[in-house]
Amino acid sequence: MTIRAGREFLAIPGPTTIPDEVLRAMHRPAVDMYSPSLIALTDSLLHDLSRLFVTAGRSYIYIGNGHGAWEAALTNVLSRGDKILVLESGRFALDWGNAAALLGVEVEVLRGDWRRAIRPAEVEARLRNDTGNTFKAVLAVHIDTSSGVINDIVAIGEAINAAHHDALFMVDTVASLGCVPFAMDAWHVDVALSASQKGLMAPPGLAFVAAGDRARWAHQKAGLRTPYWDWTARDGETHYHKYAGTPPEHLMFALRRALDMLSEEGLDNVFLRHRLLAEAVRRAVDVWQQGGVVEFNIVDPKERCDTVTTVLMNNCDPGPLQAYCNGKCGVVLGAGFGQMRGRAFRIAHMGHINAPMVLGTLGVVELGLGALGIAHGEGGVQAAIGWLKENVRP
Ligand SMILES: *Cc1c(COP(=O)(O)O)cnc(C)c1O
Repeated sequence: MTIRAGREFLAIPGPTTIPDEVLRAMHRPAVDMYSPSLIALTDSLLHDLSRLFVTAGRSYIYIGNGHGAWEAALTNVLSRGDKILVLESGRFALDWGNAAALLGVEVEVLRGDWRRAIRPAEVEARLRNDTGNTFKAVLAVHIDTSSGVINDIVAIGEAINAAHHDALFMVDTVASLGCVPFAMDAWHVDVALSASQKGLMAPPGLAFVAAGDRARWAHQKAGLRTPYWDWTARDGETHYHKYAGTPPEHLMFALRRALDMLSEEGLDNVFLRHRLLAEAVRRAVDVWQQGGVVEFNIVDPKERCDTVTTVLMNNCDPGPLQAYCNGKCGVVLGAGFGQMRGRAFRIAHMGHINAPMVLGTLGVVELGLGALGIAHGEGGVQAAIGWLKENVRP
């Protein structure tokens, strides 16, 4: 017996729920790729992406995913043999660093802890020790989707400046852009990257990179440049070259609608909606913790991000809970990732999310904990409602 008929709820941190109107925007024939309307669409998307990154710099759209964006960012500014510093705070910064190593870049990892954010003071200390300015770039992830941490990009940028280091600051915003505030130029970020399928509510398949002035300067001498990712090749007037070939028309239609939805709602409200719903999730987890089995992965509440919550399970396999939520109730939870594989589950709350989706997901998790006899504090959903009741006034 199941109670999962109807629409499946995706509570995984990407791909996320695609709004019906974004799906509908793709339901049309392909168009002439040389038509003025498609060229205008590209211009509007590039313009709006730079606004979303909050940069005066240029943005690029690639047919790719987050891994593609990583490679685009690296190859455009680095050369084989360059040294970079990767700031560990979960799986994703390490994987980005591994991609750099495979490209022939010398990678040093500033070791972190998967249960906390990057410590800006440690970044400053390491860079002060690099008296010869040998690091060409510092890589960090804004929100690490495996651990559920949010890193203080402002403070890390300030730490790099305080160390008088001229490394480029490169930031992955795949799990944060369009969900929480980000401001590339004001935060001293030289290269920022993202992808279409998480907070931006579009199908997987598009990668985005934005480059500031210092990055463009480094680009001139970058030896890792390749025809597909190269900024210079995409900078010209020819529309065809902006995608190194055929434009991803339907993904562009989808992205246009998704970006319009964000601006119709207003980014301030988008950020507030994420914060309120994330806190509702945290209120529930906080209650469940009382049973002694489930526990927040991120120890310091201030370092818990607003797009995904990673929940550890002590001496208890999360598999049956995930299987119950999905198989019986139609809610797909994220699995533990990296170090947390088999030890955690994740509840994503990013992109096209609202109160019934979040309360529904929490209700199903609480149902699953109960049905499987996993010790937990009762009333997590009630606590989530209590929080929303106080903060979403009539
Ligand atoms: C999902 C994710 C990626 C990888 O994106 P893909 O599209 O799966 O390649 C990279 N960084 C972060 C922070 C992510 O959340």
